[in-house]
Amino acid sequence: MRNTVLVADAVRRGKNNFSKKDVQRETQISWGTMCKVVDNLLADGFLFARKEEPSGRGRPMIPLCINPEAAFYVGLDIGSSHSHAVICNLNFSVIFRTSQPTPRYTGQEAFFSWLFAFYDNVISESQIPSEKVKGIGLAISGNIDTTTGTIVSGGNWGIKWGANIPVLEKLTEHTQISAFTLTTQSAAVLGEYHFGRKQGCANMVTIGLGVGIGSGVISDHQLLLGQPTRPIGYIGHMLIPGNQHECTCGFHGCLESYSGGNSLAEIAREQLPDRPELHSAAALDHAAANGNPEAIAIISTAASYNAAGIASMVQLYSPESIIFYGGQSRSDGFLFNRTLKAFKEILPSERRTGIDISISNLNGYQSALGAARIAYENFF
Ligand SMILES: [Zn+2]
Repeated sequence: MRNTVLVADAVRRGKNNFSKKDVQRETQISWGTMCKVVDNLLADGFLFARKEEPSGRGRPMIPLCINPEAAFYVGLDIGSSHSHAVICNLNFSVIFRTSQPTPRYTGQEAFFSWLFAFYDNVISESQIPSEKVKGIGLAISGNIDTTTGTIVSGGNWGIKWGANIPVLEKLTEHTQISAFTLTTQSAAVLGEYHFGRKQGCANMVTIGLGVGIGSGVISDHQLLLGQPTRPIGYIGHMLIPGNQHECTCGFHGCLESYSGGNSLAEIAREQLPDRPELHSAAALDHAAANGNPEAIAIISTAASYNAAGIASMVQLYSPESIIFYGGQSRSDGFLFNRTLKAFKEILPSERRTGIDISISNLNGYQSALGAARIAYENFF
């Protein structure tokens, strides 16, 4: 992590009561370097020193404070069904948020004009001066090359493998602001790590259950950032023996090709052709909850596939906390509860003890928040 980020994070953690000495203790940066960083941040107006009335003898402690309005970071999350945006100030308070449906991909021209309009509206509605936006984080559902800033694929919203859309170059050209792009799954776990109910948890796994299924990993406080050719937490595309369904990625038998939100509707159409009222994931879940045996059979299969994916993440990364998010992560959902039950059946209890399981309280904004955070980490 860059020194400016380490220092500003420490000042924020100190809730505007830390002196340079406290910052040095927290960051472990050498005294001389730390002082230089602090002085530069003070000179540039990102920090200010609060004046305290001297009390008693000795030099008064000078508490360092964040100037919240000195910089803003935008987090965009292009999900396969909905897109979210947040603007955070330098205190990482959310000063603006919005969401809208993601249009299905029909080509670069239409996509970019939609993306630019989404961003422009966020800036104009929030009424922040655009020159104070110091970075944009862009989370995208699909396979994202973070080094080249390209969308390699986004199967769940219509982008086939190999599309290689230069999203970062185009967004930077449009906004003239530095940007960083990553997958919505990586951004989600970063958002949870910094802003969620288990923030600061050293070993954390997020599980997204929605149209797509995927996972993100924080290991020893570090975000594991995947690349298209070596993805991290790619459980939606774990191959499940006996599953023959074609996946949006082009393979057959992927977990997501059965358990994903759109896939469940397709399975229902295939297995229950004369029950059109059950041809959606929500209707199927509701019918299963009400005891419909065909719906229960489909949901139970989906739950057992989900459980295999989640249990594998536990086996690989030994998290202390698992946080669920996405449209199918509902405490009253039949599929969600069946998934937890199947997970407990598949994973030996000694591997499960001590793992905290919860549903995100970030209301769908976890990836947008993570995107804003990674923009700050890269460009502050
Ligand atoms: Zn697949």
